[in-house]
Amino acid sequence: MHTRIYKKEDLLKEDVKTDIKETLLSGENVVFPTETVYGIGANALSETGIDNIYRVKGRPSDNPLIMHIASKEDVTTYAHVSMPYIKKIMNAFWPGPLTLVMKRKATVPDKITGGRDTVGIRYPSNVIAQSVISIAGVPICAPSANISGRPSSTLFEHVMEDFKEKVDIIIDGGQSEVGLESTVLDVTKPIPVILRPGIITKAMLETVVPKVNLASHLKEDDIPKAPGMKYKHYAPNGEMTIVEGIEDKVVDFINEQIKTHKENGHKVGVIATRDIADKFKDAFVFDVGDKSSKTDIASNLYIALRRMDAQGIDHIYSTAFHENAYQEAIMNRLYKAANHTIIKV
Ligand code: AMP
Ligand code: MG
Repeated sequence: MHTRIYKKEDLLKEDVKTDIKETLLSGENVVFPTETVYGIGANALSETGIDNIYRVKGRPSDNPLIMHIASKEDVTTYAHVSMPYIKKIMNAFWPGPLTLVMKRKATVPDKITGGRDTVGIRYPSNVIAQSVISIAGVPICAPSANISGRPSSTLFEHVMEDFKEKVDIIIDGGQSEVGLESTVLDVTKPIPVILRPGIITKAMLETVVPKVNLASHLKEDDIPKAPGMKYKHYAPNGEMTIVEGIEDKVVDFINEQIKTHKENGHKVGVIATRDIADKFKDAFVFDVGDKSSKTDIASNLYIALRRMDAQGIDHIYSTAFHENAYQEAIMNRLYKAANHTIIKV
């Protein structure tokens, strides 16, 4: 398959709009940027389109897809806006990186929801994403544009690595603004529940509704699971370990590990913020940015993981990022990438 590549300015051209619309309506996939990560899009109302997403990504079909819309009004066509607080949340955070899980209507194909009676819906803020949905004239399912299990794509180059010649169209939108997937919020209950943390945090949501709960699986995230229960996701090829503790001890511990692995002929990579990046010796160090920046670590995390693979790194060590404003979302992805391998020093 020959993949057609477009840029933002191409979306103003009539022939490109027609190509995007026809591709989506015929059940084929279009990869496009959103503010969170790149998405692999399909017509949400087309079973073929949805089947293609699962096939191309290699995604298990019981993992539900998020439906993307380009106007708040479209929600009621597909879901019951049952709780009185939902409108307040939509008005405060949409368009943006927040998915709302609501009771579905019969208009939503079963294939999207993996048989659940709920559907996750999001109105993205990225202008390219909004254009693609509007051009299609139908809601668009758009899970992260990565082969299942690999880190999500936040750069055009990463999308190309995974999907060149595998989808009809890829739209280049540069680096993703946020860099982590949307917050997923279950709004079917009197008190909403965060199912997946993102940069719309519990504290931000609680400025609009009195209370927000965290799903129980999130509270247990830093407890190493029994080996058979481990669930790999967002994972680089190398074996990854998170090292937590006082900064000097973390640096010393990682440097000792680097030495041991080097003696065995293995390549070591380190993920750390700029202030300490040059303290690691004889390793490939990926600087995820300024420690005091709110957005740097989130937007660089998946780039760091993919860069480790590109460098053929065997052992990856990452510091923890608990002081960041988005630490809940960042650490959630990091723990999964490391298969919950955490060493406290
Ligand atoms: P993504 O791969 O970023 O598109 O995110 C899809 C994720 O959203 C799933 O793996 C679920 O965690 C969540 N999700 C989507 N729809 C639902 C739903 N109906 N109920 C619960 N979680 C959902
Ligand atoms: Mg994903």
